Amino acid sequence: MMEAALLKNIENPNSADILEYKNIGGYKGLAKALEMEPQQIIDEVKRAGLRGRGGAGFPVAMKWTFAAADPKFPKYLLCNADEGEPGTFKDRPILEKNPHILIEGMAISGHALKAEYGYIYLRGEYPAAKHILNKAIKQAYDNNLLGENILGKGITFHLAVHQGAGAYICGEETALIESLEGDKGQPRIKPPFPVNVGVFSKPTVVNNVETLSNLPYIMEIGGEAYAKIGTPDCPGPKIFCVSGHVERPGVYELPMGTKLKDIVYTHCGGIKGGKKLKAVIPGGISTPVLPPDKIDCPMDFVNMPKHGSMLGSGAVIVMDESVCLVKVCHRALKFFEHESCGKCTPCREGTGWLRAILGRIEEGHGAEGDIDLLLSVAGNMLGKTFCPLGDGAACVVQNFIKHFRPEFEDHIKEKKCTVNG
Ligand code: SF4
Repeated sequence: MMEAALLKNIENPNSADILEYKNIGGYKGLAKALEMEPQQIIDEVKRAGLRGRGGAGFPVAMKWTFAAADPKFPKYLLCNADEGEPGTFKDRPILEKNPHILIEGMAISGHALKAEYGYIYLRGEYPAAKHILNKAIKQAYDNNLLGENILGKGITFHLAVHQGAGAYICGEETALIESLEGDKGQPRIKPPFPVNVGVFSKPTVVNNVETLSNLPYIMEIGGEAYAKIGTPDCPGPKIFCVSGHVERPGVYELPMGTKLKDIVYTHCGGIKGGKKLKAVIPGGISTPVLPPDKIDCPMDFVNMPKHGSMLGSGAVIVMDESVCLVKVCHRALKFFEHESCGKCTPCREGTGWLRAILGRIEEGHGAEGDIDLLLSVAGNMLGKTFCPLGDGAACVVQNFIKHFRPEFEDHIKEKKCTVNG
């Protein structure tokens, strides 16, 4: 079993306190980073092979290189802490129980990017985290780990928390920037990319909470040793949050590439009450659902697409035989319809249509041809929306039908839920 790096010490009731964090070696990574030139840090992160943990898996060093190369100043570092997809709560233990690892990671990243300002864009629904982060940031300022002339090394990095109003779309990096600037949280067209034209039109790096929290560990053990954890293409530890019908749901820190089957059956103790597994959503509600015979797959950014799904955020949702998948699909589309920002027609209208058709099938009023209609609407959304929310909604419908079509057909034929009567 791998020793925890990101979730180390979180069972300690005082784990959010700076003294407890320092007691387990906290802020040594920052001290080490401050002895290095910014480019040396970027090179170390490149050696580590760190990929963004928000869902896209983009190589972190590459993103940093683009921003660092831009001659415009000031530069900004934004932490995406807008964790809002159903089933996703992997960043929450860091925000609430290990905030200093994130602050340390941001200070390291700030030095690497020559960014003097950072913001943690926090999900509106995490009020406790706001309080905890603000307290931890004050402790870091009081200990000269943030602010001017950090540890006497002449480096400046200021950090503040900005709490969103609770819109899922603000987790998309350009919508996050719009929201941070005080405008309505809607995605911007790309290019230009935020690394060149981001917040206040300045070079901006947006990284996820978990991504930034890996930096103290990379500084501690070095990029080469870090690259040996996990899979060659996707190294490092990964936080998986598991919900649904398993014996031990919760948050697990495991090597990237741990098999989905092992997460469900070994780490989480198998299906609750000895029931049969029916389906698993591996990486948050927008990632393609998998039937039981397809879960013997390594959970990383490269392998999951080869097995018909995506790693996403690593939010595993497990469903046993008692679950009506038409209902799950309908619930998912209710979420997407509610969270669609309305900017583009295929998403704004399409999510509503998909939700309505699924609703009538679930209620026993489905008509012959409704499944094809769902696929037609989803097909007309795919690739035609401004940001990934529209694609995500369409993919959810396509994949539930692909793997569980008979259940949809039975609902239409029997005019009722055929799983739970
Ligand atoms: S796909 Fe949906 S959420 Fe994204 S910009 Fe278009 S309307 Fe907004």
